[in-house]
Amino acid sequence: MYPKIDKKVYERNLEDYREMAWGDARCNWCMNQWGWNVKSSKYSEICPEFRYTRNFGYSAMGKFHIIRALLEGDFDATDSEELLKICYTCTSCGACEMNCLRLNEKEPLKAAEALKAYLVEKGLAPMPAHKELLKSIKNYDNPWLQPRNKRRDWTKDLDLPDFNKEKCEYLFFAGCTPAFDPLLQHEIINTVKIFKKAGVSIGILGDKEICCGSPAIRIGDRATFFDLVKRNIETFKQAGVKKIITHCAGCHHTLKYDFPEVPDMPAIDYEVVHVTQVLEKLVADGTIKFTKKVPMTVTWHDPCHIGRHCGIYEEPRNILKAIPGLRLIEMERIKDQGWCCGAGAGVRTAFPEHSFRIAEERIEEAKATGAEAIATCCPYCEQSLSDPIKRNHEKIKLYDLTDLMLMAM
Ligand code: SF4
Ligand code: SF4
Repeated sequence: MYPKIDKKVYERNLEDYREMAWGDARCNWCMNQWGWNVKSSKYSEICPEFRYTRNFGYSAMGKFHIIRALLEGDFDATDSEELLKICYTCTSCGACEMNCLRLNEKEPLKAAEALKAYLVEKGLAPMPAHKELLKSIKNYDNPWLQPRNKRRDWTKDLDLPDFNKEKCEYLFFAGCTPAFDPLLQHEIINTVKIFKKAGVSIGILGDKEICCGSPAIRIGDRATFFDLVKRNIETFKQAGVKKIITHCAGCHHTLKYDFPEVPDMPAIDYEVVHVTQVLEKLVADGTIKFTKKVPMTVTWHDPCHIGRHCGIYEEPRNILKAIPGLRLIEMERIKDQGWCCGAGAGVRTAFPEHSFRIAEERIEEAKATGAEAIATCCPYCEQSLSDPIKRNHEKIKLYDLTDLMLMAM
């Protein structure tokens, strides 16, 4: 058994990864699907960063080697023009960590994120485009330069309770990206409509909601993230929140798994569930009834931040299978071996063409199934996958899971 690091993830620094870095097995399982999953060589790879650079320095293994060299003083972080690119073309998809943990009990993604934090602390990172996101978070509490008082605009026709004034069972944490982007608002509007039909008691924080901190921690800015965590927890406490529902996969991963990893964290006394988990139960117990046929062949794209990072694979699939007339067919790379959409960890912001190629490959993989549509449940995945569909005039449709549910209700 490889020795576990007895520290919270965001207490760790590069030194904590010394043993893992030296023990790197050079086995390449961080870049490839397990052999028994492979159906074609075309879709056998799982590290999008290596796939589109073809340079081992850019793989999870490469980053372990960089960490080792930094720790041993073999080079200085200022020596390499490529270093920032190596660190920031990684989407934090977690495919490397999934395979390396299982085979070698190592955590290459956590080590790579500690490397970004090291570079940020030294003032060498993040990328210029990321600095704009961080400035926006500091000034507006969201990464998209949007005024705070526009955050609740998406709720205007929904008659949605304010959690601060009216006690509800669940807080619906809408997330910055779908709240401010008119092209993505349908995801959270649909979610609310479905919950209302099912009689679920939900409220929102409105303009009191702030960024969960996902963009900050994924690009290595721990100080900004820690501040957001503390402020979020304070807000939840004041409002008396006990249960949180998220739609955004990034918010879900961050609230549920990253918050507890912050040093000196205030106690967390609320639970976090993803919308797919709640909806699956409501479908299974008959509260949500599908009364209309949706005659369509659909393939499911696993968002990394609810799939690999949180283990939510079956819930959305079970919902899709319950829709009358809908036929679910699977792509070659699914669940813990799924292919990323290309958006994560600020890659779409700083390296849009790299992000585009990763998304384009996912669209090709989806088309190869013969499906008429792709379904997913994450604003970043929807944004990223819609790029190649639009640019390449693809016929395949892209839906949020809630779009398809409402068609059937
Ligand atoms: S990072 Fe892990 S999976 Fe990749 S080469 Fe090193 S030991 Fe193997
Ligand atoms: S997190 Fe994803 S993109 Fe980054 S190194 Fe691992 S497999 Fe590659």
